[in-house]
Amino acid sequence: MDATVQHIVVVGGGSAGWIAACRLAAQAKRTGSGVRVTLVESSNVPTIGVGEGTWPTMRNTLAKIGIAETDFIRSCDAAFKQGARFVGWTDGSADDAYYHPLNPPAGATEIDLAPHWLHRPADDDADFASWVDYQATLCDAGLAPKTIVTPEYAGHANYAYHLDAGKFATLLRDHGVGTLGVDHVLGDVAHPHLADNGDIVSLELRDGRVLPGDLFVDCTGFAALLIGGVYDVPFRRCHDVLFADRAIAMQVPYDGEDDDITCHTVATAQDAGWIWDIGLWTRRGVGHVYSSAHISDDAAEAALRAYVGPRGDALSVRRIGIDGGHRERFWQNNCVAVGLSAGFIEPLEASALMLIEASMDAIADRLPRTRSAMEVVARQFNDTFRHHWQRIIEFLKLHYVITRRTDTDFWRDNRAAASIPDGLQERLDLWRYHSPAPQDFDHAREVFSWPSYQYVLHGMRFGSRYPRIDPGSAEAAMASRFVARNDRARAELVGRAPRHRDLLRAVREYGLQRV
Ligand SMILES: Cc1cc2nc3c(=O)[nH]c(=O)nc-3n(C[C@H](O)[C@H](O)[C@H](O)COP(=O)(O)OP(=O)(O)OC[C@H]3O[C@@H](n4cnc5c(N)ncnc54)[C@H](O)[C@@H]3O)c2cc1C
Repeated sequence: MDATVQHIVVVGGGSAGWIAACRLAAQAKRTGSGVRVTLVESSNVPTIGVGEGTWPTMRNTLAKIGIAETDFIRSCDAAFKQGARFVGWTDGSADDAYYHPLNPPAGATEIDLAPHWLHRPADDDADFASWVDYQATLCDAGLAPKTIVTPEYAGHANYAYHLDAGKFATLLRDHGVGTLGVDHVLGDVAHPHLADNGDIVSLELRDGRVLPGDLFVDCTGFAALLIGGVYDVPFRRCHDVLFADRAIAMQVPYDGEDDDITCHTVATAQDAGWIWDIGLWTRRGVGHVYSSAHISDDAAEAALRAYVGPRGDALSVRRIGIDGGHRERFWQNNCVAVGLSAGFIEPLEASALMLIEASMDAIADRLPRTRSAMEVVARQFNDTFRHHWQRIIEFLKLHYVITRRTDTDFWRDNRAAASIPDGLQERLDLWRYHSPAPQDFDHAREVFSWPSYQYVLHGMRFGSRYPRIDPGSAEAAMASRFVARNDRARAELVGRAPRHRDLLRAVREYGLQRV
């Protein structure tokens, strides 16, 4: 008989586990499907506790789960994020920095401004991000992407968040259990009971309790208890492309209560990696991601401490290993891996939580009603997420490949042809002559689409051979209109947008307008 999917068991209570449980339970509640969700987590195995940068997708996820933005900001010490600023990646010179904002370029659906920017008048020294959009200006000025009266989850600029990962999991747990009816079990999963076809029938906990289920979501982090431990699905490493295999993290308090809170992630290139700097309401999260083949742990810590300065002297650090790569398949039998159990690569561009959200969208929106329907959904899921992982690896590698830095082995090795994926090399050959465009990508929902590629490529001043467009043409006139519109929006917002810390203070005090 073809069993129906009625009970989903999520294993693991980190960000992945609680996003998964809340998303599934909210969907069941909305549709009245009657599907039950249980989350089991160990109180002996800690969560990873890092993962502070998100994507704008988080606004959708929170709204779908039914969490008010005000509650989220207050509970998770959250701040707004409007993109990333990459410092020292292009040539390492004193003023080497560019933005990858979250807004797309002006007129993105109608015109490609890149060739117009490239052939702009000689006396116009604007960088690409500022020429095509106003968000870099907001970031530079420390201004927020919304005001206190902008409705929840809306903004005058696209935005994501910086958050405290531990507090985020607690918020989701309280909401999942209290509002969405998730059954929460504390216990260590010891081993599964399998059916003849290899499906998991139930999980046995160390204390002897048994948890039956129809679908199991493996959110056990690096332990990968089910997808690795039970199914032994091979892990595809990517160290030959992305060299970072270690991180050292530090939590840095602000000097004063009114210090500016940076409204974007800062990623500063180092001799053998890069340092993230993320501003939360109460503190900064700072960490050094590096390649142990190119720098010792002690030297990496010294570089982090030098970056933080004297206020970091008394602060402790946390060391984390990064086994970069992903599973060959994510959905096997009636088990699907989400979060670190599915894979992880260095957090440049902060894509891990986004992948968890995308995975849960795919699972919740297409939840197989029966076991036999699972085969097709699983195959589609595996194809889609293999593609996403491959593209994310390529996009991160892009940051290293088009650098002109040759000052250390790390940067020189990163440009070695053998370390560059074929697909990326092929596109780079094309992008010398054409700016990235939608037709360069084959998946309907690329995680990094052409605007992201444009911001990085043109931020790093790659590709200078684009055809000149006749300044008297209709196309040039249209470009001028969009640039002028962008300049007007910039001027208007600089006069109106609140200071980032002031807005966060007001949200904590009064709350945002509810939609
Ligand atoms: C250095 C670093 C920086 C990062 N920065 C970012 C970032 O900026 N943005 C971003 O999106 N992501 C980032 N990430 C990734 C992000 O932290 C994770 O994707 C996210 O926290 C999800 O983790 P998880 O829930 O999969 O795993 P974990 O948090 O490790 O949770 C695993 C859970 O499984 C449970 N468990 C394990 N074994 C058992 C068992 N036998 N029985 C029961 N339960 C068990 C544990 O108790 C725990 O609850 C970063 C990661 C690292 C390492």
